[in-house]
Amino acid sequence: MGGRNPTGPFRAGEDVILVDPKGEEHLLTLTPGKPFGTHKGNILHDDIIGKPDGSRVWTARGTVYRIFRPSFNQYILNLKRHAQIIYPKDIGPILLWADIFPGAAVVEAGVGWGALSIKLLEAVGPGGRLISYEVREDFAESGRKTVTRFLGECPNHEIKVRDIYEGIDEKEVDRVVLDLPEPWRVVPHAAQALTPGGILLSYLPSTLQVKQMVDRVEEQGSFTEPEVFEVIHRPWHVKGQSVRPVQWMFSHSAFIVVSRKIT
Ligand code: SAH
Repeated sequence: MGGRNPTGPFRAGEDVILVDPKGEEHLLTLTPGKPFGTHKGNILHDDIIGKPDGSRVWTARGTVYRIFRPSFNQYILNLKRHAQIIYPKDIGPILLWADIFPGAAVVEAGVGWGALSIKLLEAVGPGGRLISYEVREDFAESGRKTVTRFLGECPNHEIKVRDIYEGIDEKEVDRVVLDLPEPWRVVPHAAQALTPGGILLSYLPSTLQVKQMVDRVEEQGSFTEPEVFEVIHRPWHVKGQSVRPVQWMFSHSAFIVVSRKIT
């Protein structure tokens, strides 16, 4: 079916997240007649269809699961992925620092699994547009599927199977967002494509890439001095008398480098 259906009981064709007693999550698409197999017995999809969001369902052997409409984080983190994604902790700040606004024209590269594409499309809204460059045909296709499964068809989303290092076709673009290995090769193209005051944002795992990007942006002469930061998300364990940070955390994803086009 595809597309968010945020109210009412679960319907056939919708995605659902099942949460087991240990908090483990499973993403599935509701299909009449199909069972969801667990080692504690099956749950029938038909037992979920018709129930409200947040309800309980039981396996044949009496284990209780909670059912929810997937939030964005639950959807993205439970997909079977082949490419690296931008993690949810970074997506929020990317939307703010790239200042993605309703009606904006945004170019992004690459698509990968389309995690960022979903949030860019939501932020530009139906009055904006997103043009996503992806060099690999298989990722263009899987990214498109991930996006439409969550948002439904998006007529304002165009995926181009293209190497963005060779150029950007669009002009008067408001924002360029890059998640690929050598964004410095896109700096001259972004300088041509961006409208004055437009924003160029890159997401880079290594400090050496950050340095190369900052040097290139500064040499180009068409951008403000880049702002560079990383986002640290430290979860806490709050149970009984134990109120403290969790012992293990995901300590690094990537740095964010942002600057603005000047005339
Ligand atoms: N932002 C994505 C993940 C992107 S992974 C997400 O949130 O899911 C990086 C992607 O960039 C890969 O799919 C890779 O194929 C693509 N890529 C790498 N170099 C590219 C280039 N020169 N032009 C377009 N896409 C490129």
